[in-house]
Amino acid sequence: TTTKRAYNFNAGPSALPLEVLQKAQAELVDFQGTGMSVMELSHRSATFEAVHNEAIANLRKLFAVPDNYEIVFLQGGASLQFSMIPMNFLTEGKRANYVLTGSWSEKALKEAKFSGEAVASVSTKENKYKNIPTEVEVGENDAYVHITSNNTIYGTQWKTFPETGNVPLIADMSSDIMSKPVDISKFGMIYAGAQKNLGPSGVTVAIIRKDLLESANTNLPTMLKYDTFVANNSLYNTPPTFGIYMLGEVLKWIEAQGGLEQVAKNNEAKAALIYDAIDNSNGFYYGHAEEGSRSLMNITFRVADEELEKQFLKEAEEAGFVGLSGHRSVGGCRASTYNAVPTEACQALADFMKAFQAKHQ
Ligand code: PLP
Repeated sequence: TTTKRAYNFNAGPSALPLEVLQKAQAELVDFQGTGMSVMELSHRSATFEAVHNEAIANLRKLFAVPDNYEIVFLQGGASLQFSMIPMNFLTEGKRANYVLTGSWSEKALKEAKFSGEAVASVSTKENKYKNIPTEVEVGENDAYVHITSNNTIYGTQWKTFPETGNVPLIADMSSDIMSKPVDISKFGMIYAGAQKNLGPSGVTVAIIRKDLLESANTNLPTMLKYDTFVANNSLYNTPPTFGIYMLGEVLKWIEAQGGLEQVAKNNEAKAALIYDAIDNSNGFYYGHAEEGSRSLMNITFRVADEELEKQFLKEAEEAGFVGLSGHRSVGGCRASTYNAVPTEACQALADFMKAFQAKHQ
């Protein structure tokens, strides 16, 4: 097609697969012969329920979610999960254990403190969040251990997940969910806002082990209790129907790519193009994250010369690259290379970085 598409490196909301957008466009005003948009369907209709159930089933299949886990769709973003997790799982007399690897884990900890005792057992803040810790400290009395699997702002990512014994491990996977296969059985719960790897903003996915649900706090407002969503197949109230439809289409796209094994290979190759441009620049560019902790989803880097960095971002924008400014809290540059960012866009950025260096060095 001749559709004009930006080289979109936004951190979130982020690029969606072109094929998914085109399918949604084709179906927008008449979904499956109903004479209605999917957005206009009752969430109680058989047509919508089929979309909803297919999305859940495909998520279970593609992400290999075992039978002893529930999958729910929520609203309020990953940020509301920061509150719901301690409300539900920080039970009487227990302590919530947070591993701090960036701003999002700090925010998660802050919310947990409203529900009870919550501590940062490990933090890499002193190292400017450039690395992922090699070990975590688990207490006997911990209700759960919480990690952020990928740190969107600092560009670090857990490569192997920590062992927490009998204590449930809970992971905020907002910025790397379904970027690679994961052994779900290692986790008590995984959650993610959809707007990076899975669809548009507005829908949040949670995958929760059943025994954790069974021992959860019960004296909670209806909409803040996971059980409400589990017991009603995430249809207790009106769900974000368009977001769920889009998420379902993104899952079909992931399957068409060859599933998560293939998507992981693509992501490794994409990130390598940009990391190579950094590493082979003789210090013209340098990465923020330590090498062993580098994210394959958010590549954070600096142009060593501060004045040239401004020029880099300006020229990149003029050349059609979107979203390359680092998060306002850390500055510098960041390229987010989520699933839907094509290899071609990463190659174009690597080429641009090399050309910019050649011109300005
Ligand atoms: N956690 C991580 C790792 C994120 O990257 C983000 C958003 O960028 C959030 C949480 C917050 O998500 P939301 O905006 O869906 O509340």
